[in-house]
Amino acid sequence: MSTIEDAAINGGTEKSMSEKYVYYFGDGAAEGNGSMKDVLGGKGAGLAEMTNAGVPVPPGFTITTGVCRHYYANGRQLPREFGAEQDAALARLESSLGKTLGDADDPLLVSVRSGAKFSMPGMMDTILNLGLNDKAVHGLAAKTGNERFAWDCYRRFIQMFSSVVMELEKNEFEHIIEAMKHKKKVKLDTELTAKDLEALTLEFKRHVRKRVGRDFPQDAREQLAMARDAVFRSWNNDRAIYYRKQNQIPDDIGTAVNVQAMVFGNMGDTSGTGVGFTRNPSTGENHFYGEYLTNAQGEDVVAGVRTPHPIDDLEKEMPDCFRQLHEITKRLEKHYRDIQDFEFTIQEGKLYLLQTRNGKRTAQAAVRIAVEMVKEGLITEKEAILRVEPASLDQLLHPRLDPKAKVNVIAKGLSASPGAAVGIAVFDADTAAEMGHAKKKVILVRKETTPDDIHGMDAAQGILTATGGMTSHAAVVARGMGKPCVSGVSAIHVNEKARTMTVDKLVVKEGDWITIDGSTGRVMLGAVPTMEAAVSGEFAEFMAIADKHRRLKVRSNADIPRDALKAREFGAEGIGLCRTEHMFFAEERLPHVVQMIMAAPQVKALGEKLAAKEKQLDGSIGGENKKLKTEIAVLKKELAAPLKSYKSALAKLLPFQRADFYGLFKAMKGYPVTIRTLDPPLHEFLPKREDLMVDIATLPRATAAQKKEMVKKYRFKSVTQLKAGMPDLLRRVEELHEFNPMMGHRGCRLGITYPEVTEMQARAIFEAAVKIVKEGGSVVPEVMIPLIGTVEELKDQGAIVRRVAEETIAKAGVKLEYLVGTMIEIPRAALTAGRVAEVAEFFSFGTNDLTQMTYGYSRDDAGKFLPEYVNRKILPGDPFVSVDQEGVGMLMDWAVKNGRETRGKLKVGICGEHGGDPASVEFCHRTNLDYVSCSPFRVPLARLAAAQAAVRGTTAESDRR
Ligand code: PEP
Ligand code: MG
Repeated sequence: MSTIEDAAINGGTEKSMSEKYVYYFGDGAAEGNGSMKDVLGGKGAGLAEMTNAGVPVPPGFTITTGVCRHYYANGRQLPREFGAEQDAALARLESSLGKTLGDADDPLLVSVRSGAKFSMPGMMDTILNLGLNDKAVHGLAAKTGNERFAWDCYRRFIQMFSSVVMELEKNEFEHIIEAMKHKKKVKLDTELTAKDLEALTLEFKRHVRKRVGRDFPQDAREQLAMARDAVFRSWNNDRAIYYRKQNQIPDDIGTAVNVQAMVFGNMGDTSGTGVGFTRNPSTGENHFYGEYLTNAQGEDVVAGVRTPHPIDDLEKEMPDCFRQLHEITKRLEKHYRDIQDFEFTIQEGKLYLLQTRNGKRTAQAAVRIAVEMVKEGLITEKEAILRVEPASLDQLLHPRLDPKAKVNVIAKGLSASPGAAVGIAVFDADTAAEMGHAKKKVILVRKETTPDDIHGMDAAQGILTATGGMTSHAAVVARGMGKPCVSGVSAIHVNEKARTMTVDKLVVKEGDWITIDGSTGRVMLGAVPTMEAAVSGEFAEFMAIADKHRRLKVRSNADIPRDALKAREFGAEGIGLCRTEHMFFAEERLPHVVQMIMAAPQVKALGEKLAAKEKQLDGSIGGENKKLKTEIAVLKKELAAPLKSYKSALAKLLPFQRADFYGLFKAMKGYPVTIRTLDPPLHEFLPKREDLMVDIATLPRATAAQKKEMVKKYRFKSVTQLKAGMPDLLRRVEELHEFNPMMGHRGCRLGITYPEVTEMQARAIFEAAVKIVKEGGSVVPEVMIPLIGTVEELKDQGAIVRRVAEETIAKAGVKLEYLVGTMIEIPRAALTAGRVAEVAEFFSFGTNDLTQMTYGYSRDDAGKFLPEYVNRKILPGDPFVSVDQEGVGMLMDWAVKNGRETRGKLKVGICGEHGGDPASVEFCHRTNLDYVSCSPFRVPLARLAAAQAAVRGTTAESDRR
């Protein structure tokens, strides 16, 4: 550890002959300046800068960090020349204000604060009103005409000084106050009178004498020396050492000490105090904004005891001060080139600025201010881009809770998809869909959602799930739909059968109103009022600025034309991922999908047998030949029915798919559209095994109504069909059961075993595309094969797609460009990217699966331990939210480089959820991806993050030069 103490052991710090130890600021000029943070600390440099900018800050002086270093390096001795410099600065301060430290009639009071180069909040408490003593307290009372105030200041000063400087416990004084209140039979400090506070001060002093063995220092200069040394000591208190370690602040730089005159706003009707902003921090409007109180202290404004006046009233009450304040704060805004949040005090007609800093603002204000400041020539476009937090744009795109509304929060979960939603709780997707279509507002509450719930999710205002993380089905789909979603609310227990959700003893029944806030993860009882998103004209202007500066393209993940249109509205430049399976879940399609799945294994098994026999037949002669022919005829007969069923199911699906793709192509008006072949394990399209087992068992005793319900549920046409079909359905569900479906029969593995499915999808894609071309439109389909681990898998599927494409294009006699590429979502595919790129014309990183497979964390189960991992800093954050740049990122970087070594112009994008995360977007920029793709509502965020990455990149580049 390199501390200042070590420096002392090594012989002390060097001292240059010309070193200056004390820097004065005040009377319109400062000896230091804003660039001297090393010497004056951050606060001292800021005070100097403000003074130099002509801002009337209360005058004072800064004792340099060099004095602190000297103090430690020389056995807690101060430099020899220091005393004289401090005396001179103090004398200048006294003469500037016409007051003397410790004076009995009109005392100068000062504050003493630490201030290192880097802000270290909480290192040392500020000491206010230093200079008060038994005599000066009367002077203060006379000057303010407020005896109570004077004694209150004095007792607070003793309390603060004794704890910070003399190291007594704070609560020792609190006990004395409590005893006094008890004696006076009052509850609040504010109920103590001036006389009570005077008596309290006496008690405090007695206590100090008893505990420290000396009187409370009455000499104001001694007070100052003691406070200054306490600041130096505080540099090495446990809190400060810990803070430095946490924030990688060097131990040996020391702290400065700022001594500054106190000013009071409670010295009569020509005094006052207030706070304000140079522009409206809520709307961004360029209008002076703030409030103040006459004859009051800062605390009075904040505490809400008296109602402050709008700042415009100051213009009438103290016109000179108002004009000066307005002019100064505007100047400050120009100086700092950002909206300022300031505090001021007027002491007997003289204005002082106590603080100014860049103001916090809403997203709406941030956008408007950035755009207007560019127009005013105050900031550059690049600076404007960096002024808005990408994630905050969500606030502009979704409804939010009325900030004034009262809320009754009953639980908290993950903020899975932003925005607020209000509705009645319903516990299954069918009811949600029914009620939603009847224009009722509902929140779909599930333990977790499955693809089967999609119609209910679509009809609901928002989705609430008890389990699941940020990439759970509910979260991903809700974000895609732009619907608010709170997931992983472990405190709620959902009983889907009883149609209730319980939180401790509270039971929410179906039909009760609830509100969810997907931006904060809060779940509330009752219908909380919401506010519609306000997308102002400046928002579009701001995005246009961002677009000018970004290199990365931004696409959207969208499965249906409605989402594609939304994505275009938000500025998407293509579709980066269309998950075709989502098209299979729609009510009129699912029966054909089920039919296809039911027939598939027989088709496969019999087809393989038949092929083997036919091969055998090729090389056979005589009697064997005859036998084989008979066997082949039998097999063909057996195969006929399932094959017919299989082919007719696919044939029924084809026009649906074709219409879907046509809609997408049309919506995207020539922008590229990436369509992924079927990905999820087939069991997701079939009913749950447990449901089937229960229903098969209850069927013999079921009432007519229950049977009707089951016919509807399992999509049979009659009870007879139901009875015959349920055992088959259960057998197929059991066949499809996998211990780990995420690593099972899914992705390209489906297309390889059932090539007809890939073929049908390819046909639908290219038939739709040639239709667009024939109509005179333009389209660039990009067909994407999911979950490959080897180049051979891609070769197999790519060949089918290319064959169908060529056939369809030739038949139509049109010209059509298309690409065949792959997702990179298995580490092996990333590692062998050089080979994969021999076949793939583009890569798209499926970082949801790539993260799952790289860590070996199931994306559906990781919610059980990930929060603890993050809390205990075993992981820096949730890798399903922001790309793990060290591990997953290394694979991505490798894949990009090796892929492009094989195919120079390889197009590379990302379509996992990370494509809408600002830090991940920045990583994609640095890794030279061509585009990111995210859900439609995140498109503006990604556009801004991409622009910020580009701007930061150029800044870093120019810094290097
Ligand atoms: C992915 O894995 O990142 C991806 C986009 O695919 P899915 O989430 O559909 O598995
Ligand atoms: Mg995937």
